[in-house]
Amino acid sequence: LADEDRESRPRLMLMGLRRSGKSSIQRVVFHKMSPTETLFLESTSKINKDNIHSFIDFQVWDFPGQMDFFDPTFDTTAIFGEVGALVFVIDSQDDYMEALARLHSTVVAAYRVNPNISFEVFIHKVDGLSEDYKIDTQRDIQQTTTDELADAGLENVQLAFYLTSIYDHSIFEAFSKVIQKLIPQLPTLENLLNILCANSGIEKAFLFDVISKIYIATDSSPVDSQSYEICSDMIDVIIDISSIYGRAAIGDRSQGYLEDQQGGHNEWSQQQDGHDKDEEDVQGGHGHGQSQAVVSSNSQTGSVNEYPVQTGSSHEAFSVIKMGNGTVLYLREVNKYLALICLLRAETFEKQGLIDYNVHCFKEAMDQVFELKRAERTRREMEAHQ
Ligand code: GDP
Repeated sequence: LADEDRESRPRLMLMGLRRSGKSSIQRVVFHKMSPTETLFLESTSKINKDNIHSFIDFQVWDFPGQMDFFDPTFDTTAIFGEVGALVFVIDSQDDYMEALARLHSTVVAAYRVNPNISFEVFIHKVDGLSEDYKIDTQRDIQQTTTDELADAGLENVQLAFYLTSIYDHSIFEAFSKVIQKLIPQLPTLENLLNILCANSGIEKAFLFDVISKIYIATDSSPVDSQSYEICSDMIDVIIDISSIYGRAAIGDRSQGYLEDQQGGHNEWSQQQDGHDKDEEDVQGGHGHGQSQAVVSSNSQTGSVNEYPVQTGSSHEAFSVIKMGNGTVLYLREVNKYLALICLLRAETFEKQGLIDYNVHCFKEAMDQVFELKRAERTRREMEAHQ
């Protein structure tokens, strides 16, 4: 990737003890692996610079081994200098005393070279804990960590804590919050989304990183998990369809096109709860030759009962799903990493022309936001050279 491209993406580092769940998180979030498959993962053994073509620049680091802050050759400046967020993963189902000690030394070392890092603690694998125990664990970890930092004279360092699991959407939601802190254009993006919603009768709009299904911005109406989940499921559906039928292209996952198109008459077999969505791995075109797509609708909102996949004439992905409960999901690709997904009422969607037009304006504004940032950087660099 070009340097400039790299620089404009939020940079994130995932750390934690061995077996805390780092590789699983990486696979589930960025490689669409199903959580149960992670049971057979080899533990992380080296620095893993994942070459994912996502809006998010993501690296995984492992303890112990790679991180010896007392080794003089260990270059903390190089490691922490450029990072936006340091995510530290703690296995909540295990004794976490050693993890807390590592977290402490990591924060101390990183803060020294880069006080702008956001420190994010994932109290992970909480699927195995009861509600009460979850709250107690979080309180205990939070208290211990902040007390120790205060003792070390670092009471101003801010840490954020999240309860996460790869078995539900909590891991994606936690990442969404982490990433949002790293996007300087966030207020502008939120503002644009608010304007779009207000002028088009849209109830909720998310800007998604397509590969990871992390949302990087949303309008200011409250986020309920259900709308987030349904939008994130929509991305899976669209990616599967586009890989199979090759009519829409999104991200890097949809490289496999089927030559003989089905004329838009897609046969949908519907499966309800209990089926593994990832049964059909269509990544990289493995879906070739399949004539039927499987949608597993695991949300309570209603089943997919009508599915006019409409795609633009270019490679830009565009699609609409009308659901049984009168809600419409509207997706449009914004740039090579990002897609806009809106939830609206079927009545509102009758004015599709207006919505299309407003979304088009939103896209143009988005281009300008990112273009301006690039121009600004070039200007700063020129000044620095003079
Ligand atoms: P790493 O060494 O930090 O990369 O850890 P791994 O990703 O190899 O994970 C170690 C084990 O934890 C694996 O067996 C995973 O299946 C399991 N694991 C990871 N995340 C979760 C989670 O959210 N919940 C549960 N119950 N197990 C998890």
